[in-house]
Amino acid sequence: SKVLVTGATGFVGAWVAHNLLEKGYLVRAAVRSASKVKYLTEYFKSYGNQFETMIVGDMSKDGAFDEAVKGVNGIEHIASPVHLHADDPQELIGPAVSGTLGILNSALRNNPTLKRVVITSSGAAVLEVLPEPKVFSELNWNHQAVRLVEEQGRSAENMTKYRASKVLAETAAWDFAKTHKGEIGWDITVIIPPYVFGPVIHEVASREALNTSSAHLLDLLLTPSTSPNSMSTEALTTTGSSWIDVRDLAEAHTRALERAETGGERIIVCVEPFVWQDWIDVARSLSPPVALPPHHQLAVGVPGGGKNAVYKIRFDTSKAARILGIKYRSKEEPVRALLEDVVSKGW
Ligand code: NDP
Repeated sequence: SKVLVTGATGFVGAWVAHNLLEKGYLVRAAVRSASKVKYLTEYFKSYGNQFETMIVGDMSKDGAFDEAVKGVNGIEHIASPVHLHADDPQELIGPAVSGTLGILNSALRNNPTLKRVVITSSGAAVLEVLPEPKVFSELNWNHQAVRLVEEQGRSAENMTKYRASKVLAETAAWDFAKTHKGEIGWDITVIIPPYVFGPVIHEVASREALNTSSAHLLDLLLTPSTSPNSMSTEALTTTGSSWIDVRDLAEAHTRALERAETGGERIIVCVEPFVWQDWIDVARSLSPPVALPPHHQLAVGVPGGGKNAVYKIRFDTSKAARILGIKYRSKEEPVRALLEDVVSKGW
């Protein structure tokens, strides 16, 4: 069975392609630029003809996926702009929405045998920033981010712009499914991860070019507490998010494709909430430790400072437990893997 994967040149997509290949699927990676084909082909060369790439260009372009969707049984749509330096919110919203609608329309036109499309959304599409702590579930939508971007435009916070792009892309997918219900023989599953951490297997030219979530974790772990860029004690012990290891997220994407009961569902996949200090503590207590080069030192922060944290945002993970049943990795694993990447890749 053949699966089209978008975003395979990125952090999450590379792992999804890897997971599918390991399970024996044929994988076609839809790649934006020709310059990224060489690394990917080399990385997956042990899978021989099981892996192929197709250059599709920018996914904002009409019909970008028209050829790529042909003949596949499943689609994993992971590509979306993930950065926090968009001035115009449309830089994020445009490609996120038109990429999602584009691949669905291409599938509608050009693939009569498709079974399922799995789309990567985000906790960003679910959570809202509220004064009181709240447990969010698949029933919740981040209307707040969309409203703030409508009101504030370019001056909205960068995180808010990203969140709005994920809400609008996911909404577009569900609207599409409703509109075309009678015409499509396939269904949609949406996977909703919070922060994703873990080993990096996609092409990264330098530490500056790391994907956003890996860069956040690494900057946290390797910024000395004396640096003006380090987080305040207050921020380290009261702010954070929730997380999942990228390898578990990849497994969730494969199961979402395979299991009948995931069809038509949004599914939050997440281990637990954290405050940033927790990651520093885990990194400092790795046994055996990762031997970092001398120019890198682990941050210290406020050891144990996250122990009594009150988590403002939590996610209800019962649906994922019921229909995906993934056994999640613990914090040590992504931290060790990322620090080992620092050593092996010279970041
Ligand atoms: P990356 O930045 O590593 O990967 C993004 C991917 O999307 C790349 O393959 C990139 O291609 C592709 N892409 C972006 N814009 C376009 C475009 N206009 N046309 C074609 N391709 C495009 O991010 P992640 O792997 O971390 O994120 C993957 C998905 O997971 C996203 O949908 C993101 O919202 C979601 N997610 C990620 C989380 C995280 O913590 N990492 C948390 C929650 C959700 P190229 O290589 O050419 O730039």
